[in-house]
Amino acid sequence: MGGTAEGSTSRPLDERLSVYLEVVGLLVRMEGRAGEEEIKAVVEQASRAGFRSRVIAGGRGCSVVLVGAGDIQAARAIEFMPAVESVTELFSPFKLSSRETKPDDSVVGVGGVEIGGSAVALIAGPCAVESREQITEAALAVKAAGAHILRGGAYKPRTSPYSFQGLAEKGLELLAEAGRIAGMPVVTEVVSPADVAAVARYSNMLQIGARNMQNFALLVAAGETGLPVLLKRGPSATIEEWLMAAEYLLLTGNDSVVLCERGIRTFESYTRNTLDLGAVALVRLLSHLPVVVDPSHGSGKWRLVTPLARAAVAVGANGIMVEVHPEPQKARSDGYQSLTPAEFAELVQQLGDQGRSAGCRKS
Ligand code: PEP
Ligand code: MN
Repeated sequence: MGGTAEGSTSRPLDERLSVYLEVVGLLVRMEGRAGEEEIKAVVEQASRAGFRSRVIAGGRGCSVVLVGAGDIQAARAIEFMPAVESVTELFSPFKLSSRETKPDDSVVGVGGVEIGGSAVALIAGPCAVESREQITEAALAVKAAGAHILRGGAYKPRTSPYSFQGLAEKGLELLAEAGRIAGMPVVTEVVSPADVAAVARYSNMLQIGARNMQNFALLVAAGETGLPVLLKRGPSATIEEWLMAAEYLLLTGNDSVVLCERGIRTFESYTRNTLDLGAVALVRLLSHLPVVVDPSHGSGKWRLVTPLARAAVAVGANGIMVEVHPEPQKARSDGYQSLTPAEFAELVQQLGDQGRSAGCRKS
C-alpha cells in the first residue's frame, strides 16, 4: 500500500499507523459511561507514550485527542483500557479544530454572548478607540442597532509607522468603560505577547490581527489567558495555515477560539482585500470552530460592507464584524470602510430580513 492517508480508513489500526513515521493524531473515543478516573488513565498513558493530549467534550461522551511523534505501540495499549470505545487515526493536519475530532459545532461564549449555533453574532465598533466621546457614542449607537459585542483597537498594527498607532492602555480603559456603559462585552486586538496581560484585564475577547496570525509566541500567550480568542486569517494565509494557527491556541487548553475571515491579498486592486467567502463555507465544513466575517477589511469600501455581510451570512458565517464610526470622515483609521451608525442599523435590518435571526442567544 502507498503512504497516503486517503481511502485507508477501513484498514486495521496497526497497519494504518505503520505508514506514519512522524506526527500522528489519534482520536480516543470514550464510552458514555467513562468517568474522570478512566479519562485520566488515558491521558496518563498518552503521556507515557510521548503524546500531548487534549480532552474534548461533545456528542455523547468525551474524546481524548493524542498528538505528537510518540511511541505508537504504547499508544495502542489505550484501545484495551476501561471505558475506551475506539481509537482511530486523525488524518487532517489540524487535529483539534477538525470536525473529525468534534463533529458538532462549537459555541464560544464571550461575556454572556454566544458565537456559534444558529444565531448570527454582531460585532461592531470603530477601527480604533480615539477618545472617550467617540467610543462611547459608537458603543451606544451599535448597541441600539442590535450589536452584541463592541470592538475597538487600542493597539493598532499600522502599515506605516507614521500613522495613528492607537491609544494603548488608555484606549483599553476607554473601550472597557464604553462596553460597561452600553452593556456589551468587548473585543480588542493584542499585538505583542508583552501586552497580553494588560489587554486581558480590560477585554472579554482577544483579537489576533491578520498580520500576527503566525506569531506563534503571541498565539500561545493569548491562548493561555483562557479568554476567548478571535483569530483573523493572515492576508496571505492558506486555509490550512489558518487552521494550524488555531491549533496553537487550542493546544494551550483554550477551547474558545473563533476564526475570522477578513480578506486575502490577490491581484485585484479595486478592493483592499478579496473577501474569501468560499473559504468560509469550506472552513465551516472542515472545522467545528465558529467563523466570523469582517467585510470592512475584506473590501476596504463602506459601500461593499452591507452586501458582503449579507453574502457572508448566506454562506454560513456565525457572525459579522463591522467597523462603525460616529463620523467616518473624521476617523483616524479606516474611515473609508466604516459605516455610520444609521448604515449599520440598516445592515442589521437587512440581515434580519434575510431570515437568519440577528438576535444572539445569551448563555
Ligand atoms: C482591525 O480589525 O482593525 C484590523 C487591524 O484588522 P486586520 O488584522 O484584519 O487587518
Ligand atoms: Mn481597521
